[in-house]
Amino acid sequence: MKKYNFSAGPSILPKEVFAEAAKAVTDYNGSGLSLMEMSHRGPEFTEILTGARAKIKALMQLGDDYEVLFLQGGASSQFLMVPINILPSNGTAAYVDTGTWSTKAIKEAKLFGGVDVIASSAENGFNYVPKDWTVSDQHSYLHITTNNTIYGTEMHVTPLVDCPLVADMSSDIFSRPWDYDKYDLIYAGAQKNMGPAGTTLVVVKKDLLGKVDRDIPTMLDYNTHIKKESAFNTPPVFPIYVCYLTLQWIEKMGGPKAMAERNRLKAEAIYKAIDESALFEGFSAEEDRSFMNATFTIKDASREKAFVEFCSERGIVGIKGHRSVGGFRASIYNAMDQEGVDALVEAMKEFEKGS
Ligand SMILES: *Cc1c(COP(=O)(O)O)cnc(C)c1O
Repeated sequence: MKKYNFSAGPSILPKEVFAEAAKAVTDYNGSGLSLMEMSHRGPEFTEILTGARAKIKALMQLGDDYEVLFLQGGASSQFLMVPINILPSNGTAAYVDTGTWSTKAIKEAKLFGGVDVIASSAENGFNYVPKDWTVSDQHSYLHITTNNTIYGTEMHVTPLVDCPLVADMSSDIFSRPWDYDKYDLIYAGAQKNMGPAGTTLVVVKKDLLGKVDRDIPTMLDYNTHIKKESAFNTPPVFPIYVCYLTLQWIEKMGGPKAMAERNRLKAEAIYKAIDESALFEGFSAEEDRSFMNATFTIKDASREKAFVEFCSERGIVGIKGHRSVGGFRASIYNAMDQEGVDALVEAMKEFEKGS
């Protein structure tokens, strides 16, 4: 049976990418060696790493004032690497709390300096993105989470602020053309929209660094990885390669602009089905609905399990909502095609009809 994978992460990647990656496991590029057994300092991997870093800058349209790093430790390690590198112990950073991930980022930042939670949607179960807030040029930086993977809300505009702007873009990076140059630091775990689990992308404006007075442990210092071009220690060779393949796929498909159009059509189809249904209900505020993770609930919660099973019989997997929200979550990252979304919409309609 054909499978449609709506998992939130690790998640779907383009079929071509899986096929190409599979070849590299046994014989990389006709070398007779698996990519996994090759030196991370050899010419093959050096070409991959250089190519991937360049592709990211090209897709983001960023210049030489930015550095691209592939690190480990997940987006979760960035929750602490950001403040340790750019929050002075006598400084204060501004955070917008839009869900589980930003709450975790806030907790870590407090270990290193002052934290101003300038807005939060916690009181409404994080079903919207707060818009009424101000930041001052006295803040060391503003941290936002552009897409809230668990709740299915997304920031549809980049805030214009007088302090450095930092964003966790784990689940919507490369989903749209974006004013990436308005950001001073962007990070993203690869496993949502860019590749397999195992590496984390960090894009940082160089002049942001080197301004805090504390001693930063070597591995946690962005400058360590900048100086060694992301190969200070052994980088996650295979995940980086699969990211590179995915980036090439994005480019071949028409780049972030084409992704945005594809993602908009998919999101519209799902939200339309939710809005037209008498059985299903959208979770997030309409204007903040995520184009990447559509969250919805069923009015009769006792039928939740039945719908998951109904979908599973049709090859639709990974739609169970995060345990903190319940209901359902359809993650429709770049690699998900319209056919998959249509299959889900059809299943929703049929289930409703039969109930
Ligand atoms: C998944 C996710 C994270 C955590 O990523 P890890 O790589 O598992 O640490 C952080 N932020 C957002 C927005 C996410 O979706």
